[in-house]
Amino acid sequence: MYRVAQSVVLLVGAYLLLSGRPLFGLFLLFSAFGYWFFDRYTNRVVKGSERKPREETSDFHDELFVADLHADVCLWRRDHINRNKRGHVDLPRLIEGNVSLQFVTVPTKLVLTRRLPRFFLTDLFFWSAMMSLQRIRTWFFVSARAELQLERVSCWIKNSQGSLKLIRNSNDLQSLSEDQSAGRQGIGIMLGLEGAHVLRGRFNVSWLVEQGFRVVGITHFNDNRFGDSAHGWRRSGLTSVGHDLVKDLDNNGIIIDLAHCSEQLISDVIDMYDEGDLTRPPILSHTGIKGVHNHRRNISDEQAIAVARAGGLIGVTFFRPALPHNSVKAVGEVVLYLIGILNEAGLEGVRHVAFGSDFDGAVKTVIDSSGWPKITEMLLESGISNKEIQLLMGENVRCFFAKHLP
Ligand SMILES: [Zn+2]
Repeated sequence: MYRVAQSVVLLVGAYLLLSGRPLFGLFLLFSAFGYWFFDRYTNRVVKGSERKPREETSDFHDELFVADLHADVCLWRRDHINRNKRGHVDLPRLIEGNVSLQFVTVPTKLVLTRRLPRFFLTDLFFWSAMMSLQRIRTWFFVSARAELQLERVSCWIKNSQGSLKLIRNSNDLQSLSEDQSAGRQGIGIMLGLEGAHVLRGRFNVSWLVEQGFRVVGITHFNDNRFGDSAHGWRRSGLTSVGHDLVKDLDNNGIIIDLAHCSEQLISDVIDMYDEGDLTRPPILSHTGIKGVHNHRRNISDEQAIAVARAGGLIGVTFFRPALPHNSVKAVGEVVLYLIGILNEAGLEGVRHVAFGSDFDGAVKTVIDSSGWPKITEMLLESGISNKEIQLLMGENVRCFFAKHLP
């Protein structure tokens, strides 16, 4: 259906262009091709990472529990069951990368710069929904966008014929680990929400629980009524409704994700944890660190230490500008730096570091989901012990969620 509609738009566009109405014609051609082009050219892997890992590395990697804390997989109109030329994640590539637990995160709104007014025309999700001919409600409503992505996730799981399993609680996670140690197939999928601005009316915390969300990021690119974003205008912290929301999420077994949050918001949530208002430590699902590369998207040493001290996890991400340069080695630099500063602060650093790729987040990454063995090889070459690599690649994430899921 989409292909037919796309072809009609394409033909009408070409007709208008040739019959002397170039503006309308170009607009329609842009609409027909723009989405494909955007997906194809933003969700790429950097060149130079084609080197295959050594056989010993692959053998070791195949024994690992590999976890990825953040990927926007179902944001895109694609076939996720078969291997795709576009994007970073699909079922065959998850299997090839020996991924055990993949977070599928749901973003719903993005006004790229704080200089622009915030309404539907400046929201990139409006344009991508329109150009990919998604149902009309998704052009304007963030809740409809979340619902559509949830439908894609459940279709993906259903069509995977048992290869993918939604993880809702610690029992699900336990049986996933048992299946994997027994050599049975199964990749766990966990749901995360990127930005709490979706929550309004019937889209409330109970709805999140019902849908199976287990991680919620308070903000994405824009400030919202719960608090402020690292990319926003206001740069304050949690609002009073935000404070209540964080408590409510925690009471319902949902972990708070501080990625994209303003400095003040991060410290507000940590304060809530320290004061005993939160029972579950927060995580930072996908980030870099300012000590290695000073960028607004990254966290400071103090923030990393505060999250780790609370018992949380820091997911090192795979794209620039979070990394100092575009290579697998840069991921290693961030991991080693993080472990170093956490150890210096008297913590066991290696127990608080994990990975959050940000695959399919309209970013160029150092690997795609088939490339996880390259991360293992880089860690081996950095002199990290096998035991520590097990923790970093996924054991930390497994233990954290086994402990904190309902
Ligand atoms: Zn993000």
